Amino acid sequence: MNKNVLHRLGKFIWPQHLRYQLAFIFAAIISTAIVTFSLQLSNEEAKTLTNELQKHSAALAENIASASAQYLLVRDYTSIENILIGAAKFPGIMHIEVTDIRGKIIGAVEKDIHQRIKPKYGVQALSPPANQDQSIIISAHKMLIWQPVNLSSTIGWVRIIYDLKPIEEMAAKIWENNLNKGGIIVIISFFIIIIVLHRPTLSLSRYTDFADQLNQNLGQQVEIDNHAIEFTRLGAALNHTSRQLKQQDDELNTLLADLRRVAVMAEYSPNIVFSMNRDGKIVYSNHQANLLMSQHQLSRDDLTRLLPKEFKKIRQNCFEKGVLKKNAESVFADITYLWSFSPFHEQSLLHCYAIDISERKRAQEELIKQANIDPLTGLPNRNLALDRLEQAITRAHREKHLVCVMFIDLDRFKTVNDSFGHSTGDRLLEQVAKRILNSVREGDTVARLGGDEFLVILDGIDAAIHSEHYAERILETLNHPFHLANNEFFVGASIGISIYPDDDTAPLLLLRNADTAMYQAKNNGRGGFSFFTQALNDEAVLRVKMETRLRHAIKNNELHLEYQPQVCAKTGQLKGVEALARWNSPELNIVPPTTFIPLAEDTGLILEIGEWILKTACQDLSDWMKLTPSSLSVAVNMSSRQFRSEKLIDTIKQTLADTGILATQLELEITEGLLLDDSPRTLEMLNELKAMEISLALDDFGTGYSSLSYLKRYPFDILKIDQSFVRDITTDPGDAAVCQTIIAIAGKLGMKVIGEGVETKAQLDFLAQNGVDLIQGYYYSKPLNAVDFAHYLKNSET
Ligand code: C2E
Ligand code: MG
Ligand code: MG
Repeated sequence: MNKNVLHRLGKFIWPQHLRYQLAFIFAAIISTAIVTFSLQLSNEEAKTLTNELQKHSAALAENIASASAQYLLVRDYTSIENILIGAAKFPGIMHIEVTDIRGKIIGAVEKDIHQRIKPKYGVQALSPPANQDQSIIISAHKMLIWQPVNLSSTIGWVRIIYDLKPIEEMAAKIWENNLNKGGIIVIISFFIIIIVLHRPTLSLSRYTDFADQLNQNLGQQVEIDNHAIEFTRLGAALNHTSRQLKQQDDELNTLLADLRRVAVMAEYSPNIVFSMNRDGKIVYSNHQANLLMSQHQLSRDDLTRLLPKEFKKIRQNCFEKGVLKKNAESVFADITYLWSFSPFHEQSLLHCYAIDISERKRAQEELIKQANIDPLTGLPNRNLALDRLEQAITRAHREKHLVCVMFIDLDRFKTVNDSFGHSTGDRLLEQVAKRILNSVREGDTVARLGGDEFLVILDGIDAAIHSEHYAERILETLNHPFHLANNEFFVGASIGISIYPDDDTAPLLLLRNADTAMYQAKNNGRGGFSFFTQALNDEAVLRVKMETRLRHAIKNNELHLEYQPQVCAKTGQLKGVEALARWNSPELNIVPPTTFIPLAEDTGLILEIGEWILKTACQDLSDWMKLTPSSLSVAVNMSSRQFRSEKLIDTIKQTLADTGILATQLELEITEGLLLDDSPRTLEMLNELKAMEISLALDDFGTGYSSLSYLKRYPFDILKIDQSFVRDITTDPGDAAVCQTIIAIAGKLGMKVIGEGVETKAQLDFLAQNGVDLIQGYYYSKPLNAVDFAHYLKNSET
C-alpha cells in the first residue's frame, strides 16, 4: 500500500479498502448461495430417504400383515412373535405390534437402546384407525404405520413405529458436509478476489495519490498502467488533465501577475485614480487620490468635486453606450486635471483617471504667449501682428474703411545698443514701446517685429492722409530724448506707411510695402515718414532682381576691381592702392559698391565675393610687381560678415602663399561699425592679423561713433579720415579742428593717417601740413582698372 495513502488515512483499516469490501461482498453472496443450496440438498435427501422408508415400511407392514393373518385368526402368539422378531431386524424399527380388530395387542416387539429386539408385554390396547386402509403418520422423529390384517375381511392391525432420527441425522450430515465445502469455496474465492483485485486497486491508489499530488505539482505525469484499458485511459486522462491544469495555472499566474502589476500601478500612480459605481458612490481611490483627500480634508465622496462639469453626461454615455471618454478637463484648487473615463461593465463600475496638467497648461499658455507676444515689451509680436492685420482687413473690407500699416524703424538704436550694451538697449526699447502706445488710439495695434522695428496698425481710418497725424505724433514722441543709465539718448525713427486696400490687400504684402516705404524714409534723411508708392515697389523689385543677378556675378565675370592710388602727402610718391569692387551687370549696368556690397552682406554672398576680391587684389599686385618691383601695398575693404568668418585667416594665408606677396604688403580696411559690439573675438581676430604682420586700417573714421578709445584699444596701423570731413576741411573750421585733433592723436598713438576723398590742392595742403601721411582721392587719381593702374604705376616710376 502506498505510503501517501496510508499517510492520508492515518492508519491502514482494511474494511475501508475496496478490494476487501468487494471480497467480503462476494464471500457473503457465495456463502448465502451455498447455505441455501446445502439446506435444499439436505432437505431433499431427507425427503428421499423418508419416502423410501415409507415404501419399504409399507411393504414390510403388508408382509407382516399377510404373514401373521393365519396366526392372528388362531391367536398363535408365538408365531406372531417370531414373525415380529424377524421383521424388527430392519433398521429404524422401534416397535411392531399386531392387534385384533378392536386393538387388543396380540403380539409386540421393541428395540432397546442397544438395538436388541425384545418381546413387549403388558401393553394396553391400541386405537386402530377408523378406516380399513393402510395409513402412515409422520410425527416428530417418528413414523407410524397402521396396516390392516386382512383375511377376507380385516381381522386385525399391524402397527410399526419407525425411528426417524437416523434419517434426520443423515440429512444434517449432508448439510454439514455441504456447508464445510461451501466455506472452503468462500475462503478460496475471498483470497482469489483479493489477489485479482490487488493490481487494479494498486493502480487506483497510485492514480489517487497522483491526483492528490497534483495540488502541489501541476504538470507532473503519472506512469500509465496498461494492464487494463480502463486504467490506460484513466492514466492518460489524468496526464492530460495535469498538463491542461498546468497550462491553465501558468496562464492564470501570468494573468494574476499582470493584474497585480496593474493594481500596483493604479495604486501608486502619480495620477488620481478612483472607481465609482452606478449610484455615484466611490468604491476605490488610489494613493494619490487619498493624499489629495487628506490635503484638502475631503471625504472619499467629495472626490466628485474634482470631476469636470459635464461629468453627468459622460457617466451616462459611459454606462449606456460604453463610450470611453477622454480629454475632459477640470480645475480644482488651482490644479488643472485632464480626465479619462472608462466603464467596467462586469462590475458596473466607472474608472476615473485624472492627470495634473497644470504645468503643461502653463507651458502651453507660455508657448502661445511666446509665439504671439514679444517678451521684452509685452507687445504683440510679428505673428500676432499679422493676425491682427488680417482681422483689421476683414473688418475694413466689410465696413468699407482703410487700414493703415506703419513700419517704424529706430534711427540710432544700433549705436545705443552697441555702445551701452544690450540691457540699456532693452530698456530703451521698452520706453519706445510705451511712447508709441501712447501716441495711438486705444484699440490700435502696436507690435514689435524684432530688433528696433515696430509696427502700428490703424484700424478703421477713412483717408490715407489721416494716418499722417499719427505718424507725426509717433515721430515727435520718439524724437524726445530718452534718459537711461544717466545718459540722454536721441534715437529718432523713420516710418514707412502702406494702406489697405490701396497698396495691397494681403497682410504680408502690406507689411513688406510699409517696410519698403520705411527704407525710403531713411533714404530721405531719417526722422521722417514716407508713404509706399509704386516707385518704391519697383525699387524693391529691383533689389530682388539684383540679388538674383549677384548670385551669378562672379561666375559670369561681371565683377572686377579698380585700384585707387594712395600717395605720400609730402613727397607725392605712390605708396599703395585701395582695391574697390565694381559690378558691371549686363542687365543692371554699373551697380555701385555702396549698393551691391550691403546686398551681398545681407544675403551672405559677401563671403564668396570677398574671397574673390582678396585673391584678385593680391594677384594683381603680384603681377604689377613682376613688371616693376616695388614695396607697393594693397588695401582690401572687409565687410563685417566677411571679417567674422572663421575661414578668413586661412583664406588670407592661402592667398599670400598662392600669390607670393608679403603680409606687410596687405592692408585690411575695417569700418567702425565692426568694432561697435566690442566683442573679444574682434580683438582676437585683429591681434591675430596683426601678428601675421598684416596692416590694419580703420576706414571712414568720423562717420560713425568715432570713438577715440577704439584707436587705443585695437591694434590699428592706419586711420583713414572719411571724405565727408575732408570735403569741408578748408571751409568749415569745426571740421578742420576735428581733423587736426584726430591726426594729432593718431600720430601720438603711432598710427599713420590717410586722408580720403582729397579732390583739391587746398585739401591736400591742409592735410599735409597737419601731418597726414598719405593722400587718396581724385586729386591724384580716380580708381583705375588693373590695366590702367599698371600704366599709372609705370608712369609714376619715371
Ligand atoms: P571706401 O572704402 O571709403 O572707399 C572710398 C570711396 O571713395 C570709393 O567709392 C572711392 O571711389 C571714393 N573716392 C575716392 N576718392 C574720392 C574723391 O576724391 N572724391 C569722391 N567723391 N569720392 C572718392 P566706391 O568705390 O564707390 O566705394 C564706396 C564704398 O564701397 C567704399 O568706401 C567701401 O566702403 C565699399 N567698397 C568698395 N569696394 C569694396 C570692396 O571691395 N569690399 C568691401 N567690403 N567694400 C567695398
Ligand atoms: Mg575703403
Ligand atoms: Mg573710406
